[in-house]
Amino acid sequence: MTRVNRREFVIAGAAAGLAAAAPRQAFGRAPAVLTRQSAKPVVISSANGNRFRNGGTETCVELAFRRIAAGDDVLDSLVAGVNIIELDPEDASVGYGGRPNADGIVQLDACCMHGPTRRAGGVAALEGVRTPSSVAQAVMRQTDHHLLVGPGAQAFARNLGFEIEDDLNTDRSRRLWLDWKRRTDPQHYLDPDREIARRDVEIGRLAAGLDGEYRDDEVHGTINCNGINSAGQICGVTTTSGLAWKIPGRVGDSPILGAGLYLDNAVGAAGSTGRGEANLYNLTSFLIVEYLRQGMNPKDAGLAGLRRIQENTIERRLLNSRGLPNFGVNFYVLDAGGEYAGVSMYASQNSRYAVCTENGAALVPLEPLLDGSPSD
Ligand code: ASP
Repeated sequence: MTRVNRREFVIAGAAAGLAAAAPRQAFGRAPAVLTRQSAKPVVISSANGNRFRNGGTETCVELAFRRIAAGDDVLDSLVAGVNIIELDPEDASVGYGGRPNADGIVQLDACCMHGPTRRAGGVAALEGVRTPSSVAQAVMRQTDHHLLVGPGAQAFARNLGFEIEDDLNTDRSRRLWLDWKRRTDPQHYLDPDREIARRDVEIGRLAAGLDGEYRDDEVHGTINCNGINSAGQICGVTTTSGLAWKIPGRVGDSPILGAGLYLDNAVGAAGSTGRGEANLYNLTSFLIVEYLRQGMNPKDAGLAGLRRIQENTIERRLLNSRGLPNFGVNFYVLDAGGEYAGVSMYASQNSRYAVCTENGAALVPLEPLLDGSPSD
């Protein structure tokens, strides 16, 4: 049954009950309580949410689901989950040990949304704090603002008692940066007068060792994690070190509402990993939530969002030999009934996302929009 049908059913059922008991003027716009529905609790995330444990016993989605099932606030549970990934140096795309920017500095972006209270918070280009998602949550809870950036975000975190470190690099992230720095400086800034292969492709090859295969995960990586409890409360969080070797100060899609994350407690949630600029130009998470509102299921809504990105990708440097986008981007979508899907521009061996339900956690295939690979 689609979300719209469930919603109509709930409203119709409640209205029928009211019709028997209430005078006619009670009928107008249905109060929110009439649309509240029970949902199947679930936590979904990018694949890293069921890969890393930071030396503990649980993955991000396992911990978040367990806490949600125990009645904890959904966002508190999700942030505790992604903290595992942020703190784990093995994940080189998020938090501590994330890939640094062009100056060798790890700059982090994150945002979160709390559906029941309609609040959100974000940080961008934050240095020195391993868990930017927690700072984003503090911005949400303790300020009247949504987004704090750079030194201001760091000062805010310091004032709240977050530990500020000089350097979030690990030996591994520093080595990756040095590799890149030695080989790629001339290509780092786009030359508008020259037809060049897509910058990320070049960087990916170089990061892999000059003659390596293009690997999108060499330059991209993030965690988006969304969850819903049995009362239908929806929350989400996205946290990242952003595009590897980015120009210092570059902010990607991850901390931007509507791009890296968007949700509406009555409708559903969507969040993203992959090429942030393509997502930003289309505010695709917002778009996907609007498609859910129109009655699409999570898979169709996600694929329609990817199609919008594909249609708006027209620059030659961003197209492969088939005239299709030469980058990867994924969305993780859930609706207000607890139905969910993960969608991807292309399928590849890494095209999985993480799901945790009462049946446990698993990595399941993303639904691809296009055949082949970005580099075909
Ligand atoms: N979307 C992130 C960004 O563009 C990076 C990624 O997910 O790969 O900053």
